[in-house]
Amino acid sequence: MQINNLSEKINAYEAKIKAATSRVIDSGWLVLGPEVKRFENLFAEYLGAQYCVSLANGTDAIELSLRALGVESGDIVATVANAGMYTTTALLAIGAIPFFIDVDLTTRNTTLKEVQRALDAGVKAVVVTHLYGRATPEIKEIAQQCALHGVPLLEDCAQSHGASIGDQRTGTFGDASSFSFYPTKNLGALGDGGAVVTNRNDIAEKVARLRQYGWSSKYCVEYGGARNSRLDEIQAAILAVFLPDLDAANERRRHIAKRYSLEIKHTEITLPPIGSADYVAHLYVIQSSKRNLLQAYLKGFGISSDIHYPIPDYRQPLFKDKFAEIGLKNTERLCSEILTLPCYPEMNDSLVDQVISAVNAWEI
Ligand SMILES: *Cc1c(COP(=O)(O)O)cnc(C)c1O
Repeated sequence: MQINNLSEKINAYEAKIKAATSRVIDSGWLVLGPEVKRFENLFAEYLGAQYCVSLANGTDAIELSLRALGVESGDIVATVANAGMYTTTALLAIGAIPFFIDVDLTTRNTTLKEVQRALDAGVKAVVVTHLYGRATPEIKEIAQQCALHGVPLLEDCAQSHGASIGDQRTGTFGDASSFSFYPTKNLGALGDGGAVVTNRNDIAEKVARLRQYGWSSKYCVEYGGARNSRLDEIQAAILAVFLPDLDAANERRRHIAKRYSLEIKHTEITLPPIGSADYVAHLYVIQSSKRNLLQAYLKGFGISSDIHYPIPDYRQPLFKDKFAEIGLKNTERLCSEILTLPCYPEMNDSLVDQVISAVNAWEI
């Protein structure tokens, strides 16, 4: 059993995907055309935001939105260290310096207290990642504190498409938000894709320029830190096919996650809290001090699992001992104890049953 199964999704949508791709190919307009505009409008509307500027991938979305928010080389920016190095990679591309903040052991997301610590240290911007599809519980309060300090807040929503707190979707609390449409994300294209979402007209305009060489008009380069980072028309058309079903797909993910949280019963395993609209179950991540034994055991049953993510950003070999003095307690514990179980919308009940019985029968 795989941790994900994209062919099942592609098969289910085959006719619609083919209709969308033929429409684009027949039109002869392949980059930054009407399909991109249409998807950007649909996605902004879905989130309840003013602007969506699509890009080539989610890492560019982090980098270009931070540049638009005024982050420059040498600036210090707050980020968690348990989210796979994506934000840190974007910071390194800018020449900015990460200020690593810890996460809560239960939600695996950062807290107001940790953001406050970063604000007190004088960071230039804050990035909050809604990890595994769970909206950061204190995001509203974090946004208020950042605003009070005049420090821009970027939400990384690459794993939280559609998650909401109250009636507000993640991606609409901060100054801007970044999304990835990598195929396995909750809203995934059939290739790479990303977007910046914002209610600020100035940020939307800057990102739109940064995605196309820094042009203020054709062939006139006015902005530094730019590149070519565009979503293509075919991917935009495919995303517009998947978007109307995003809430239903999230509901199915949530249902599977809820079954795991209710039916897995094991003294060596800690389960994540059952979520409601705040949790779109991008990844279902359990915790055990004997995680490696459990992973090997599941493999024996043909059940794939994975570790998202095994190395805190500040311990990546790239940094050698640059961050040797940094040790975030919860981040490190999670890195050594977490394990991701299969959870995706096309996963059928009998596969879910198999995972539950295998885990419950684990003897150590
Ligand atoms: C996938 C992901 C990204 C990066 O997106 P790409 O499209 O792969 O560049 C950024 N942040 C998080 C939390 C992600 O899961």
